[in-house]
Amino acid sequence: MRTPILRLKRGREARARAHPWIFKGDVADVSGGAPGAAVTVVDAGNRFVGRGLYNPRPALCCRLLTWRDEPLDPAFFRRQIATALALPGRGPALSGAGRLVWSEADGLAGFVADRYGPILVIQCLTLGMAACRHELVPALRAGAGDLPVFSADEAAPARLEGFEPARGWFDRSGPARVIVEEATVRLGVTFGEGHKTGLYLDQRDNHIRLGALAHGRDVLDAFCYTAAFACHALVGGARRALCIESSPEAIAAARDNLTLNGVAERAEIVAANAFDELRRLERVGARFGVIVLDPPPFARGRQALEAAARGYKEINLRAMRLLEPGGLLATFSCSHHISAALFEEICRDAALDAGVRARVVETLTQSPDHPVLLTVPETRYLNGLLLEVVQPGPGG
Ligand code: SAH
Repeated sequence: MRTPILRLKRGREARARAHPWIFKGDVADVSGGAPGAAVTVVDAGNRFVGRGLYNPRPALCCRLLTWRDEPLDPAFFRRQIATALALPGRGPALSGAGRLVWSEADGLAGFVADRYGPILVIQCLTLGMAACRHELVPALRAGAGDLPVFSADEAAPARLEGFEPARGWFDRSGPARVIVEEATVRLGVTFGEGHKTGLYLDQRDNHIRLGALAHGRDVLDAFCYTAAFACHALVGGARRALCIESSPEAIAAARDNLTLNGVAERAEIVAANAFDELRRLERVGARFGVIVLDPPPFARGRQALEAAARGYKEINLRAMRLLEPGGLLATFSCSHHISAALFEEICRDAALDAGVRARVVETLTQSPDHPVLLTVPETRYLNGLLLEVVQPGPGG
């Protein structure tokens, strides 16, 4: 077959054989590659490296989808999706909500598919994948069931890649809202609203873990989004939960979820900047038995690392001071530039400044339907620690 050729600079092939991302700086020349189209990637000596989708606009100009000499046709997409769906917990057996296809980690860089009960939600993150949407949807349905498909493309990647983000039903429509079960908790999802494809599916196992730890405790769910952690804690027998969130839409959805689970009367939502609210709670001498810190990524790029580290340290320090003796802190970073080791170091600094001694009960990460590829370290992005305060700080 004849596809346009992207020739790498000398010495760039070793990385390209292991990692799907090719940057403009890696490229010697491209012959005939139309934006969004498939290209054959070759090394400086014209030896085959792989095949991917090309876009001259962003710095990350090509994402490899295969390292075999095979066409990127509908049969290819069907095979990739079938492989993705064969991961335990995915496929037609999944009845609640979960990730079915996760971009680079599933060999379909730029494409995400999730299931929410009877609905499939897809997200195209690259021009190339947006152009393949009509091949991807039938392939997805072939494996996951002939369900209504909602497109939930995000504005930022679409702008970067230069395509019109699709938001709406792909063809036939489904219900505007569904309620999905996450173990013992029910969560509402309104398609086209909220973050990601609706829920933070990457936190599902941690939601459930926390629900099992919160019995009889007062819980603080900071950066609560739609209050999934608080719902799990309260259904698990927590005494009270205080939720902090700054987005009005998320707060409305959080209220709905607390009501849906019959726990609203034990919960309070504070509409505030969590940085300010944590400081205020410390001032008034509040104490909690369990605290969750699940902020948005503070470091979107390498250059923002220092400011991000300061932000993580600040909230962790405050939270540690708010914990009662024996209290638990479930703290997360979803910035992939913050490694697990760096995150632990930041938490250690916070503990030293807060004057608390804490034990690492568990390291936490993304749910297994967000698999980590050893050769693509960016696929491990959610770093968490479950800490237990063994000796409280001043005034504790
Ligand atoms: N814990 C949630 C996901 C949290 S995502 C879950 O498991 O479902 C991070 C949330 O923090 C988003 O809802 C965002 O609106 C909120 N947020 C971002 N900056 C904030 C701030 N400074 N103060 C309070 N909330 C903030």
